[in-house]
Amino acid sequence: MNDYITRVSERLAKTCAHEPEYLQCVHSWLEMIAPATEDPRYEKLDLITRMVEPERMFSFLIPWVDDNGVTHTNHGYRVQFSSAIGPYKGGLRFHPSVTPSVVKFLGFEQTYKNALTGLPIGGAAGGADFDPRGKSNREIMRFCQGFMYALYRYIGADTDVPAGDIGVGSREVGWLYGAYKKVTGRAESSALTGKGLTYGGSRIRQEAAGFGTVYFLARMLEHQKETLEGKRLIVSGFGNMSWGVCRKAAELGGRVVTLSGPDGYIYDPDGVNTQEKYDFMVQMRYSGEDRVEAYADRFGVEFYAGKKPWEVPADVAVPCATQNELAVDDAVLLIANNVRYYVEGANMPATTEALKLLRLSPKILTAGAKASGSGGVAVSALEMAQNAIRYSWSRREVDEKLRAIMSSIYDASAAAAEEYGLGYDLIAGNDIAAFKKISEAMIAQGL
Ligand code: GLU
Repeated sequence: MNDYITRVSERLAKTCAHEPEYLQCVHSWLEMIAPATEDPRYEKLDLITRMVEPERMFSFLIPWVDDNGVTHTNHGYRVQFSSAIGPYKGGLRFHPSVTPSVVKFLGFEQTYKNALTGLPIGGAAGGADFDPRGKSNREIMRFCQGFMYALYRYIGADTDVPAGDIGVGSREVGWLYGAYKKVTGRAESSALTGKGLTYGGSRIRQEAAGFGTVYFLARMLEHQKETLEGKRLIVSGFGNMSWGVCRKAAELGGRVVTLSGPDGYIYDPDGVNTQEKYDFMVQMRYSGEDRVEAYADRFGVEFYAGKKPWEVPADVAVPCATQNELAVDDAVLLIANNVRYYVEGANMPATTEALKLLRLSPKILTAGAKASGSGGVAVSALEMAQNAIRYSWSRREVDEKLRAIMSSIYDASAAAAEEYGLGYDLIAGNDIAAFKKISEAMIAQGL
């Protein structure tokens, strides 16, 4: 790292001392882009400082009343990280773990994720420390409305376009969009993405996160002259990302044999590969119980309480749950079990040490969420495009565009790694390619 980068990094460590997730993602990014930071303009324009701080950030209170008439107050946030290449764009997460540090880390990741989709979207993230677990539909709807009454003034089709994330699926996007429309009096379709198909949503948007990850994996396999046919995949989580991975992996001949939740993991040796199983995953998600054991009861497979799926032998590991879900001992297991592909679905799923171990292992090929996890937002941008032209593409058209986008992200990542003499380091390659694109956009637009 050159002196300038070191200074930026030290300053950040001070100003964000109480934001562990945020520091973790930025520090790892600084390390990745280091080989590409020799251009003197970066220091002259203090570009790196401007890239590791959000342009702006809002926090607000969301008071709401539960079904028993009791008032609760949650904290809501929106970080508008970067508008360098388009309107702010990114998801909303409703989960008790949401803090300013978590939304900043998500907004940062989103900015660099969005940059290589080839579509003009900046980066943002938001959410609330609301726990949807055990809440009734009416309570969740009221919370979404309360959240939107605070958020609506900051968003809009050309300003900032939220979407879903953990705890926010198409059901919540519907309630958020309904509230936005009431309060603004405008049916402004692309003020939110992830909408239902009857009111401006895009086909394949629900599937896109997981499909995109598998398309990216398919390119890595191709590079090794392999295919998904007959491969075993271990997947964590059971939400939207995992659901899409199961479906596309099955379509391409692979088999997802695990799913996990906060309660443990299930092992399904036949694979999560039938419509009934996919539908059951959606049902588990909307039950609000946040447990995966129900799958084992329903399909008569093993459930391992309190454990993570990384101990199961497989060819491919796809973490799809949440940040820092995979620690050093898990990475050791993956390597010991001869897992050969590690492809991130969730944002920053590995701890710093675990990721280092995986990247440095010659036995395993790695892809980071900023590349392999960008399918969801890519189709969100396609949703915005369709809304803008008041048109709706067919499933085949959207799926094909998604595949092409994931493929071009793969190509850009591989080419940048090659250009900087980093071999087949797709994580560094992706970070460098996105960094170069955003920095060029920022330089072109002046201070
Ligand atoms: N939270 C999603 C992601 O990580 C969706 C963002 C979006 O569609 O705007 O990419």
